[in-house]
Amino acid sequence: MPEGDTVWNTARVLHRALAGGELTGSDFRVPQLATASLAGWTVRDVAARGKHLLLRAREPGDGRELTLHSHLRMDGAWRVYPAGDRWTGGPAHLIRVVLRTQTTAAVGYHLHDVALVPTAEEHSLVEHLGPDLLAEDWDPAEAVRRLMAHPDTTIAEALLDQRNLAGIGNLYKVEILFLRGVWPWTPVRDVPDLAGMVGLARRLLMSNRGRWTQATTGSLRRGETTYAYGRRGAPCRRCRTPIREAELGGRVTYWCPRCQPAP
Ligand SMILES: [Zn+2]
Repeated sequence: MPEGDTVWNTARVLHRALAGGELTGSDFRVPQLATASLAGWTVRDVAARGKHLLLRAREPGDGRELTLHSHLRMDGAWRVYPAGDRWTGGPAHLIRVVLRTQTTAAVGYHLHDVALVPTAEEHSLVEHLGPDLLAEDWDPAEAVRRLMAHPDTTIAEALLDQRNLAGIGNLYKVEILFLRGVWPWTPVRDVPDLAGMVGLARRLLMSNRGRWTQATTGSLRRGETTYAYGRRGAPCRRCRTPIREAELGGRVTYWCPRCQPAP
């Protein structure tokens, strides 16, 4: 599940593979960019903003700067391969973008919202986002203010709304609510200590930066990485009550009816 930490990791992998190097070729397999080419361009850096990826490149000579935007949503991924290696990230028809250097191929599978915009205008793609949980200038007070602006929304939906705070996906939503003992359908206005909740969200995402396994329990062992996410019918790790599953706002959610009681 690509969430803020996965996107942050992806940005780092792409940055290490491509930044500073000249692109020897590019291949955009999305209709709106079918004729675009970044061959000869230099990748300056790759950054994550919430769940958005921003790859910034500069044209040689006149120094024009463009940002390649992509979003992973539920199923997208970027993979990096040494030049000449087989690409193993998925079927070829899911490839949306290929960027090549002398030594590397970066292959984007099932990317969403692929766009090339002048770097000076890239903020227009991400300005709707709330405070970024993985940014150095993370602003928890602003995140709480934005959550409180819609007090009747369920907290489960509010945590996923990237306009409130950017970086939480379904797995962290489920786990944050479990750890805070909050019933997923609780309206935002009735959630005790929102500041504590967003602080926990920040700590969980930060602790998973730099690795691909998303663990909230402290264990990286398969089957032990989450308290509630993906565990329908399994005993709660705290009270042994079976974990429940339901749909909420179009997304699946999991909770322990005893540790997260309805009011
Ligand atoms: Zn429980």
